[in-house]
Amino acid sequence: MPTSAPEVQATRLRATLDPGAHTVRGEGEIVWRNPSRTPAAELYLHLYLNAFKNERTVFLRSRLGEGRGSTMPSDWGFIDVKTLRLRRPGQAVGDGVDLWSSADRTTPGDAEDQTDIRVPLPEPCPPGGEVTLEVAFDAKLPTITERTGYRGSFHMVAQWFPKVARRTLAGEWKHHAFHRLSEFDADYGSYDVTIDVPAGFVVGATGERVEERREGGRVVGRYTQSSVHDFAWTAWDQFQTETAEHDGVAIRLLSPPGYGPATEKELWAAGLALDCYGRRYGRYPYKGLTIVHPPAGAEEAGGMEYPTLITTGGPWYGPPVVRLAETLTVHEFGHQIFYGLVASDEHRSPFLDEGVNSYAEGACLGEALGAGSAVSVAGLTLQTEAIHREAALAVGLDDAIARPSPQFASARHYARLAYSRTATLLRSLGGAFGRDTVDRALARYARAYRFAHPDPRHLLAAFEDVGGPALREALRVGLYDRGWVDYTVTEVASNKHASPGGVFDRPSGRETVSGVPEAGRFDGWALIVRRGSLRLPVDIELSFEDGSTRRVRWDGQGEWVRVACSGPSELRSAVVDPDGLIEIDERFSNNAGSRAPSRRAPRALERLSYALGLLTYWVSP
Ligand SMILES: [Zn+2]
Repeated sequence: MPTSAPEVQATRLRATLDPGAHTVRGEGEIVWRNPSRTPAAELYLHLYLNAFKNERTVFLRSRLGEGRGSTMPSDWGFIDVKTLRLRRPGQAVGDGVDLWSSADRTTPGDAEDQTDIRVPLPEPCPPGGEVTLEVAFDAKLPTITERTGYRGSFHMVAQWFPKVARRTLAGEWKHHAFHRLSEFDADYGSYDVTIDVPAGFVVGATGERVEERREGGRVVGRYTQSSVHDFAWTAWDQFQTETAEHDGVAIRLLSPPGYGPATEKELWAAGLALDCYGRRYGRYPYKGLTIVHPPAGAEEAGGMEYPTLITTGGPWYGPPVVRLAETLTVHEFGHQIFYGLVASDEHRSPFLDEGVNSYAEGACLGEALGAGSAVSVAGLTLQTEAIHREAALAVGLDDAIARPSPQFASARHYARLAYSRTATLLRSLGGAFGRDTVDRALARYARAYRFAHPDPRHLLAAFEDVGGPALREALRVGLYDRGWVDYTVTEVASNKHASPGGVFDRPSGRETVSGVPEAGRFDGWALIVRRGSLRLPVDIELSFEDGSTRRVRWDGQGEWVRVACSGPSELRSAVVDPDGLIEIDERFSNNAGSRAPSRRAPRALERLSYALGLLTYWVSP
């Protein structure tokens, strides 16, 4: 497992906050190294604050119902680039070639959006070559909208500077407009950001604070971090600060005054997450972690992740039985792995981050809290997984999990497919092929692709390596083909065992014998049907009249299986998946079946319907 990322960019900025105007003036330098095998004739810059500029942006014109970002900002946000210059080696600051005047000012193919900007270079940047950009910009924050903005004097400053898009090894730019359902994709590098705020403001930021000084009525802090792919910060004059240390990681928690009961849970959960995720997916490699609990009214800034900085949320009290603070903290910390360190493309394959992390979050909370990982009151418990299952089944047949963010039908579909159905699918694969197998496959994926921007093929390959082709195929069908399953017991029967009767041609001549029932011996069978396309191995439990039970394993590959048994007691009932391990099963209620108490009744019914059928045939014209 690598210990640091390939440094594709080095960003050095100075940011000055005007909390009254809600603006950030930025200036500095971005060095970008071409990580591709092909020369780059252009750059793509993401100017994501422009998503909040007017109601015609890609972001604000796609209103998708429920979910974060569904309210319009009451004050707009945007970013004005003042300077974008290419500085060649040996050139003094300010002498570079102006790139901004030749840049496209709108998103390719969308004249109304300004979040995805193509910047032609005067000469191509060769593979491994570097481009040094001088930048200056004025960022205006919107009222809190989708993870960024301000409320009063609280400022959550994210997606606030011109950010070079990611270029793949093959030379493809992964650039895209800021879409409502899409999170981010960027390349690794180092940040050195000096943040200048009025005295009295408390700042939390990505990375480590390496210095802080007073300059007149201002506080100027410098934050640095390498091997990360974004930089976000927050500033508020009301923040309370708590610090803790967990296994060598310095935790800094910023919260509104009076939030002690919530922050206590968040600190506990951060420790749990550092341990659990570290053990499973590789140690958290950074020295610090900043947890930001946004104030009431700024909820949309909560529940979000940036490198080494996460935001939580919820009220200060939090009903003690509902583990909202803990769940949110563990989930957002989990993104430090699947968004921060593994860094899959959240635009193209959001499930790789959100879904895999939802599974991991449930696993870690389950380890620590058991059956009551989500709710625990008066003996009534609810596991995180049960909540995901409900959501997963509601939309599971509508569309595939593996879709680019903008292609989901609604925010509801995005949340239920990319998060919940992925988690439920992984849980079910664990139930079918072994929890340990799935956990090892995810561990291999997370460790092998740390800092490596994997895609779904890499996840499938890790599952095949660890669990074999049947596991890989089930994962593929579940992700791409709307895979579903409904196991059901359709018939259970039992007969007295008898010696075979009939006409037999033997060497001694033809013999007619009648079958003789054997006292105390029964032959039974159960028919189990697998509806749907997910072929998952499953247990079948047979129960006998004498109270004994027996389990058999079915590989789930066929459409049905007939399980036969013979013994001293009559087969009474059968249950498929008796432990409820295949959580993606559409209906648990049909997983059990019993022998009909009398065989006469169904046969009488059959005869009656046959007679009715004949009658209608005769009387029809
Ligand atoms: Zn998430």
